[in-house]
Amino acid sequence: MQAPLDATQHIYSRHTNPSGSRFEAILSSLLHAPTLTYASGLSALHAILTYLNPRHVAIGDGYHGSHGVIALHTRLAGTKTLPLECDASELEKGDIVLLETPVNPTGLAFNIEKYAKKAHERGAYLVVDSTFAPPGLQDPFLHGADVVMHSGTKYLGGHSDMLCGVLAVKRAEWVPQMIQDRVFLGNMMGGLEGWLGVRSVRSLEVRVQRQSSNAEHIVRSLDNLLHGKGGGGEEEDTRAVLERIEHASLQKDDLEGPDSWLRKQMPNGFGPVFSLRMKDQEIARRLPSKLRFFHHATSLGGVESLIEWRTLTDATIDRRLLRISVGLESWEDLKGDLVRGFGEVRKEVEQLAKSNGKSA
Ligand SMILES: *Cc1c(COP(=O)(O)O)cnc(C)c1O
Repeated sequence: MQAPLDATQHIYSRHTNPSGSRFEAILSSLLHAPTLTYASGLSALHAILTYLNPRHVAIGDGYHGSHGVIALHTRLAGTKTLPLECDASELEKGDIVLLETPVNPTGLAFNIEKYAKKAHERGAYLVVDSTFAPPGLQDPFLHGADVVMHSGTKYLGGHSDMLCGVLAVKRAEWVPQMIQDRVFLGNMMGGLEGWLGVRSVRSLEVRVQRQSSNAEHIVRSLDNLLHGKGGGGEEEDTRAVLERIEHASLQKDDLEGPDSWLRKQMPNGFGPVFSLRMKDQEIARRLPSKLRFFHHATSLGGVESLIEWRTLTDATIDRRLLRISVGLESWEDLKGDLVRGFGEVRKEVEQLAKSNGKSA
């Protein structure tokens, strides 16, 4: 093997470049482990699969693109997938358990320590995709992760203007080969993203903690409208269109007691993404265009709030599901916008039902 590349000798941008190395130095400190950056979140996943070359990857639902990357490895190397909830005995030494938490698109959280134990008992590695809970909200290494992955395109970037992937690895001895692999995978992050990334991480903790508390406020007030005792117009509109809200802050069983794993795992908030399951798909399709503070768009993690009818991006998702990424606007404004939108779609679908009734 060639000697490790010296990150202070910037010979060619695909090896190292000054702003990328600076961003990696800051991230290594934030993520509490040696950290490499890549051209995108998916290329970071591709890189760790290439480096570890596992026979099996245990994976749940979650971001559809990650399944696409694993499918490439299945084609090239015969990598087999296992369900996340597989029996530990199905895992072999060197396999990967890939845990996304909180998970896309619902925002529900999984117990990292539980999956770390399962992986380690078989000599497998736990890779945590922590995109939905960046530093400031969650440190998967504290709960047994071997590798922490991020789509830096989302919260680390935070301004919807950069594409980046991140791998932090517990074992520093992996890094030289991983840098070498990155040279030949050719999936190095561009230098300008490094500059944007350094700009972004200056405000990371403040952004994500506020976005997360905004989300929690909105989730709690919508949940109160849905399940509270009140019977006003807002409650009626909400109950007419909304079936269920999903967010880690609503995982009541997992939050109970002083030993709650979820409270330990996410001590500073439960993440800025949550989802709404509407009463039917027509309501879900129509709601985004009624809102003034939310753009209807995919992606997440920026300081502006987004809402997405998720089936447009991932056809496997329930067609009644809307994914919301909460930004830095006032949460009262955002909540008010949603509830006003509920009232408008309610009227619209009720009228639609009436005229359909007439024509039938
Ligand atoms: C967006 C996303 C990815 C992929 O990241 P890219 O930067 O778009 O390649 C992976 N995992 C999760 C959870 C994501 O939300």
